[in-house]
Amino acid sequence: MDNCIFCKIGAREVSSYKVYEDEEIFAFKDVNPQAPVHVVIIPKKHMGGLNDISDKDEKMLGHIQVAASKIANYFPEMKNGFRIVNNCGIDGGQTVLHMHYHLLGGRSFNWPPG
Ligand code: AMP
Ligand code: ZN
Repeated sequence: MDNCIFCKIGAREVSSYKVYEDEEIFAFKDVNPQAPVHVVIIPKKHMGGLNDISDKDEKMLGHIQVAASKIANYFPEMKNGFRIVNNCGIDGGQTVLHMHYHLLGGRSFNWPPG
């Protein structure tokens, strides 16, 4: 999609600190980290948000979960746990309209979130 920053990161048209990549997904460090380790995981294919998916995305979404677990295991900071966040839409606090998951670790998190 034109003018989507995450499409451009996934296509390597915009540079990022890559932590994982395969055919379907791309993961990179968040430019404004909210925890000692803050990774953003995106599908390379554009989709607006978690409210913009269909049955055909089931495999890709599972794939992201497995990749998140592998990435978390790679960082010693996350040996005691981590948090995965999906901000969806205006009320969910989504600012970049390309569906993505935040993988956060290296500190303990509060519940409920703000
Ligand atoms: P959200 O608010 O859930 O849409 O998350 C968007 C996230 O993308 C924020 O945490 C931003 O800091 C991060 N972000 C935006 N642009 C970039 C970029 N060029 N490189 C890395 N992270 C980015
Ligand atoms: Zn996009």
